[in-house]
Amino acid sequence: MLSQPAPTGNFSDQFDNAIESKRDSDFRQSLQSLEKEIKLRYGEYENFNRHLELVKEITRSLPEFEALASCYTSTLKVSLLKDLQSRLDDKFRIAGYEKPKSIRCPYCQIHIARRWDHFLPSSKYPDFFLYPPNLIYVCEVCNSDIKKNGLVCHPRSTLSPYHDDISAVSLLQCDVQVADEISVSFSICDDVVDGYIAQIARRHFDSYRLNDKFIAESGSKLADLMREHSFARSIIGRPMTQPELTELITGHLDQVGTTLTGPNHWEYSLWTALSGCVALLGFLENRYANL
Ligand SMILES: [Zn+2]
Repeated sequence: MLSQPAPTGNFSDQFDNAIESKRDSDFRQSLQSLEKEIKLRYGEYENFNRHLELVKEITRSLPEFEALASCYTSTLKVSLLKDLQSRLDDKFRIAGYEKPKSIRCPYCQIHIARRWDHFLPSSKYPDFFLYPPNLIYVCEVCNSDIKKNGLVCHPRSTLSPYHDDISAVSLLQCDVQVADEISVSFSICDDVVDGYIAQIARRHFDSYRLNDKFIAESGSKLADLMREHSFARSIIGRPMTQPELTELITGHLDQVGTTLTGPNHWEYSLWTALSGCVALLGFLENRYANL
């Protein structure tokens, strides 16, 4: 559920280069015979844009498509990764941050991305095997979930980081409950203007079990907050005031920011919810008194 800058460039040229890089002339001929159709399909992909699940599968089964699948060279993978890294670096630079050390999976926001996922699966859409807008760099967990559950079909259950731009819409919300412990839960808002995106986001959220994953990740952030409160409390030697706690939480909120992650990052939602939780200060003070 993270938006990423979409690949740009002349992908038809890229396809031509891939053909030219093949030494076997029969193989090259097979690919050349597909050239016109493939380029038309690239145009179709762009036209469907936000409705990629409606792109028709190729009905013919051609040996050329098998040739296409094996056209996917390691050189292409490396150049795609470089392109993605540089697009993300640009995004970071514009926002005034240092470049990211690693790319997070846009499907789950949690694990480090390690594999290229074919958004429209290559088993059904071999014509998009080499097409950069169809290639998403994701983590191994999400990649195997997609393979197992076929999450990109109608109705779609996977948001495309390139085509479903959610960077300006708040879809994710966090709810904080304070009793003997702090408990959190996440959900997709009901009052989202863009209903089409919200429906996909809801299915995405459920299919990738994001509530469980975000709750698990929140544990260490809550532990950080309690540690920081205890430390500050031992320094000031009196109960912390609400403005002081707000300042502490705002520091975390600023660190996450929305410029790079958008408003739908679990950590941003968590700190936002904590900043509005009136029972939090009492809980922290009580906990400190009983340490
Ligand atoms: Zn993932």
